[in-house]
Amino acid sequence: MKTYIHFKGILFISVLTFISILLFQSCTSVNQKTDTYGDILEFTDGIKVINTHEHQRRPEEFGLDSVGFYHLLGQTYLHHDIVSSGMQDLNIQTNGINDVAELWKQYGGPLDYCRSTSYYGHFIKGFQKLYDFDDNYFTESNIPVLNAQIVKNYSNYPAWFSSAFEKAGFELIFLDRYWNSLEFDIDMSYYAGIIHINDMVMYSNLRPAPGEELKSIYKKANEEGHTIKSLDDYLTYCDLLIQRNVEHKAVAFKSSLAYARTIEFEDVPYEDASKLFARPSGNLNREEAKLIQDYVFHWFVKKTIEHKLPLQIHTGYLAGNGNQLDNSDPMKLVNLIRRYPEANFSLFHGGYPWTSEFIALGKMFSNVYLDLVWLPQISREKAVLALDEMLDCVPYNKIFWGGDCAFIEEATGSLEYGKSVVAETLAKRVERGLLTKDIALEIAERIFRYNAVEVFRLEEILGREF
Ligand SMILES: [Zn+2]
Repeated sequence: MKTYIHFKGILFISVLTFISILLFQSCTSVNQKTDTYGDILEFTDGIKVINTHEHQRRPEEFGLDSVGFYHLLGQTYLHHDIVSSGMQDLNIQTNGINDVAELWKQYGGPLDYCRSTSYYGHFIKGFQKLYDFDDNYFTESNIPVLNAQIVKNYSNYPAWFSSAFEKAGFELIFLDRYWNSLEFDIDMSYYAGIIHINDMVMYSNLRPAPGEELKSIYKKANEEGHTIKSLDDYLTYCDLLIQRNVEHKAVAFKSSLAYARTIEFEDVPYEDASKLFARPSGNLNREEAKLIQDYVFHWFVKKTIEHKLPLQIHTGYLAGNGNQLDNSDPMKLVNLIRRYPEANFSLFHGGYPWTSEFIALGKMFSNVYLDLVWLPQISREKAVLALDEMLDCVPYNKIFWGGDCAFIEEATGSLEYGKSVVAETLAKRVERGLLTKDIALEIAERIFRYNAVEVFRLEEILGREF
């Protein structure tokens, strides 16, 4: 009996000691993780970020003379998750700034269902960074307060944008104005221009018949005294638009054609495209129309080589609801990448959900660069895994970051999310002995700044030091 008690005592003490060791070890490892993660995150806060992709718009470009919480919500990716939950689309034109209580009754429930998504998480991060907002979720009681602050800030949009741009940590944003892609009036103190080619490709098979209303590129060409009768005329005018963009210091070409068609572009002979262009556009079938577009797309790739500008290409997930996702598989670009080794392709969005294929292209081809843009907002956890896999496979001079948002609040939240993804991935690798901390910091600085400076030749084109 005595022996038994003694044995129980020893056992008790041993178990206590074992638990203490376990607790100590786990605390130590949590602290180490927190320290490394925290240090890298703090370092990223000091980087002046080159943001390779945004769609920032002034409120008047949305037809808005005042902006409140629901206007911002209506232009975020988060509203697509609200639709996905089963809710009708938000229409910012009809949602006022003074009816937040009423709007919560409609949207509060669906919004709450999105509290776990990355669309929700990155959106709220922007308010935590830029506003006096500490809550983890949007609620019936905090939205009216936030709404009043947003309305006040947007009453002087230029001042608000300027202060938010600075506070977020941006130095330069590449601005993709797909909604007005033939014009060049951008504010060069924040932005660098992008030559968005969608309209020029997609209108190539839509030459108006005599007497038909002129649209897009045909209208603009006509207003400037150019007549487009042949494929050569069309490309000559496209060339003029490219020249103007280059004179305005554009730093890249951009295609988001996956929203409209497949990103598989066949190599079509000039004679075939030219003959098809000469026929009345109304008589062309879908396959014939595609052939003209394919020819023009290849023509643009040759132009990117001539101007030594990278071509940014949307791959993977398509914003919105109910799109033709299989149009955007990055593997459809292999023929193009192989055909033009002198062109530089910057593939977007981690190719989600084809992230491994996207990474394999970056590994295999020296002319393929990988942009994390928007991936952390689609799925933060996938972004951590994808960046980890990228660092396994791809030299780190080939990785960029961009935001892809319409308003500065969401762009800021995207950057906060991007930084947390990069810091978490790098910290894990440092803790596992796969990287030293100094190289981890170099990688962070390259992803958020110096890779873009080098590959997009920013010093040469913009004529300033970075
Ligand atoms: Zn975009």
